[in-house]
Amino acid sequence: MSASPDDAAATGGTAEAGEKAAEILEQAAVLLAECTEAGRLTRARKLVDKVTFAVADDELIIAAVANYNVVVDVTERRIQHGCRDFRGQASERRLCKHVAATLLAVEPRLALAVARELAEGARAPASGVVVPWRFEAITRFTPGG
Ligand SMILES: [Zn+2]
Repeated sequence: MSASPDDAAATGGTAEAGEKAAEILEQAAVLLAECTEAGRLTRARKLVDKVTFAVADDELIIAAVANYNVVVDVTERRIQHGCRDFRGQASERRLCKHVAATLLAVEPRLALAVARELAEGARAPASGVVVPWRFEAITRFTPGG
């Protein structure tokens, strides 16, 4: 793989938007890879189709992935989720496949913004500049009625 320095400033393209989105999503995936393991990320990619959103905006993401819920509170920098893997990894701020899949399923621009912060937190926790994200284990709930 050759990394060409072609990430020119986005000028709000039209026809290239789809291609650009895929590119941005790849950047997000690269950053997410720093927050989890290759195996988990591979499994997360397979789960992307199974992610459904109750809310997915710049401030808050609420998703259901398989039988689990994922809440990404962007404003509060907090991820709430409840699978066993997440509970085990939460103290190390590592992403399980459900959380990674959720981030890969949202709008690429948003995914990149969150992934970048998570990766920065993973690189330099408690730097004083980057407020680290908090991972909270929650129990399952069923969305809707
Ligand atoms: Zn999980």
